[in-house]
Amino acid sequence: KPFRIRSCVSDVLERLESVIHNQQATIKIDMPDIDLSLAGDRFYWTQVLFNLVENALKQNPRAGLTVTVGCSCTDESTQIWVADDGVGIPSADLPHIFRRFYRVEKHHSQEEIKGTGLGLSIVKRAVEAHGGSIRVSSTPGQETRFTMEVPRDAEARLLAEAEANSLPELQKTEG
Ligand code: ATP
Ligand code: MG
Repeated sequence: KPFRIRSCVSDVLERLESVIHNQQATIKIDMPDIDLSLAGDRFYWTQVLFNLVENALKQNPRAGLTVTVGCSCTDESTQIWVADDGVGIPSADLPHIFRRFYRVEKHHSQEEIKGTGLGLSIVKRAVEAHGGSIRVSSTPGQETRFTMEVPRDAEARLLAEAEANSLPELQKTEG
């Protein structure tokens, strides 16, 4: 079932409200005026966005971080991204970041940040279950950006499947 991306983002920000407040982080929403919808599981997408925004906040406990959540669409696909201007991910770690249990090795001087290293592998699976893809780019200290893209035909497939599953038994067996 299609859900509104903006309301999904609102839920995520509400859940992280106290962390955002404690860290004095700035959240920017970068979305078109029209209220974009996405076909798929709202619960999964809320988890996806929660994980990405939580990561940005958790990896950058310093005050003054800016996290941007955005979306846009073309005739071919919908894009959703989460970006931050924090410490970033070294280029050597980038290819491995979606692997289960993978976490970036911290310098001795840095405080240990807790986590299991599962978040991003779950994010990737959820996005791919919707026929989408996810990529990451990072310039440490400048911008780290996770971009998800869901093609229109993948959305159409999901909608058709949902439609077929919701048909009453009688109609399904007819014809
Ligand atoms: P979990 O999500 O299971 O609690 P985690 O946050 O450590 O644990 P992932 O969400 O999979 O695990 O992230 C993997 C690693 O990628 C993190 O440990 C961190 O080193 C790095 N990482 C993820 N997002 C960012 C980010 N926005 N900025 C800097 N590093 C990041
Ligand atoms: Mg995480």
